[in-house]
Amino acid sequence: MPLQINLKKNRLTFNSRGKKIGNGYGVDGMSKPKIIIFFCLAILIVGTASVVSCLKTEQKFDLVIKNGLVFDGSGNPWFRADIGISDRKIASIKERIDPGKAARVIDASGLAVAPGFIDIHTHADRDLLEISGCENYVSQGVTTLVGGNCGGHDFPLAELFSGLEKKGLACNFASLAGHNTIRRLVMGMKMESPTAEELARMKDLLRQEMKAGAVGLSTGLAYLPGTYAGTEELVELGSVLSESGGFYASHIRNQGQRITEAIEEAITVGEKNGIPVQISHIKLADENVWNQPERITAPVEAARARGVEVTLDQYPYTATSSGFTSSLPQDVFEGGREKFLERLQNQEIYARVKQAVIKNRLTSNRGIDKLETIYIAGSRKFPEYEGRNLKQILELKGLPATVENGADLIIDMVKEGDVSAVFFQMDEKDVETLMRLPYVMVGSDGSLQVPGQGSPHPRSYGTFTRVLGQYSRERKIISLEEAIRKMTSLPAQTMRLKDRGMIREGYYADLTVFDPLQVKDLATFAQPHQHSQGIVHVLVNGQTVLENGSFTGQRPGMIIRGSGYKKI
Ligand SMILES: [Zn+2]
Repeated sequence: MPLQINLKKNRLTFNSRGKKIGNGYGVDGMSKPKIIIFFCLAILIVGTASVVSCLKTEQKFDLVIKNGLVFDGSGNPWFRADIGISDRKIASIKERIDPGKAARVIDASGLAVAPGFIDIHTHADRDLLEISGCENYVSQGVTTLVGGNCGGHDFPLAELFSGLEKKGLACNFASLAGHNTIRRLVMGMKMESPTAEELARMKDLLRQEMKAGAVGLSTGLAYLPGTYAGTEELVELGSVLSESGGFYASHIRNQGQRITEAIEEAITVGEKNGIPVQISHIKLADENVWNQPERITAPVEAARARGVEVTLDQYPYTATSSGFTSSLPQDVFEGGREKFLERLQNQEIYARVKQAVIKNRLTSNRGIDKLETIYIAGSRKFPEYEGRNLKQILELKGLPATVENGADLIIDMVKEGDVSAVFFQMDEKDVETLMRLPYVMVGSDGSLQVPGQGSPHPRSYGTFTRVLGQYSRERKIISLEEAIRKMTSLPAQTMRLKDRGMIREGYYADLTVFDPLQVKDLATFAQPHQHSQGIVHVLVNGQTVLENGSFTGQRPGMIIRGSGYKKI
């Protein structure tokens, strides 16, 4: 009977003369010494394989997180598992990993283990060079920041990225390329459509930034000079993303009575180019449209039904924060700052500007005293205004608290530039309604903070922990699993990240370990510079940047570049 050894099917075998004898698995026709050699070889191979597999089961981890409740980012109910981390990545997720196999162990008994939160909407940008510890974000469990939002980015990105890589970062960073930045470089503050040549130059600059690793294009159509751009210009620029990949994020033209058409404009840019659309910091920011969420859901859901990928981000507060320029008629800024100041000398123009400010910012059909709803967040010129509302500032100046005086005050501050304010202009019910939508993710719209400096919107310190603590645990607006999905896999999917945003073997070990019973934001409008409670450990690329609630000083963050990135 011919000798046959079945090792593995479909493996090519050779006869003694080295001739291929097919896909079989026999050693037919061998002489006795050759059979002995064959067996010796087989034993050697099997032996080596078992040593390899033995080494595999003896795998050592850099770190093991034990006994945690794993919220994997998918939105599925949590499960109990140990997580082994090696070489920056999640190497193993098992019911039990022997702690003897770990160089270090974190005991997460009773704690939630989630993917590190991805903040798809920040204004971190250049400040990262100074505030490389990202403390106000890390302390709320955020491991990845996306900058370049609302039309403004740090140009050129290649330089910023290499500067940040040299400096080292506690968190990961990705950036969009901003339309306002690009338009200003090409056209200055011209209030007109671009010529063919100007448009071509803008597209070239956008291509350059996509090659540098931008993850998409952002617009800020309520800001200068983006407000001067028409839809066609945006569609043309969006075509660059069809070539390189990336998403279109828009601070839309209007978040009040014309919000539906503003959303439709963003959808047009995405639909004509076949690219994903992200509507930034979604809100109903005008009392005249409060409690009318269909103004948002109708255009978004109709577009999704047509196959246009539209998603949104939101921060969990009823106040916005920005400067005052969007409260003025936009034509007065044409040509730049000098021209603006010149125009204000003209009494007629001043009166028109003042009326617009009163109408846009200081009028209420609901009898709300708007002077009490606007707080100054930061101003280098008027530090005494910080933390005070307009009414309090007028009192400080010994002026009657009238809307006329309020408008003059606003115009004075715009003339000085460099003023940011907090506007209470949303309804809590709408914040909750929007949060329940499955295609709405969490994004802070905040920036990096120096403790104690100014009186910023608390979203920079508490967005993520506020959703986890107040909206999920306390008020049960969404489940904890859903809250985490909105902070992790949903933004990762929008950005097409294939190795972050979930707890999966092979993914980067960006992890947030927190106490689900304690997690809570502490930053308030009156006292914004407060880190959250309940975030215990934060890991970025496998290294702890927050350990037992304290910053470690490590800088393991990476620059995350988009699919259009071309190494020079
Ligand atoms: Zn914005």
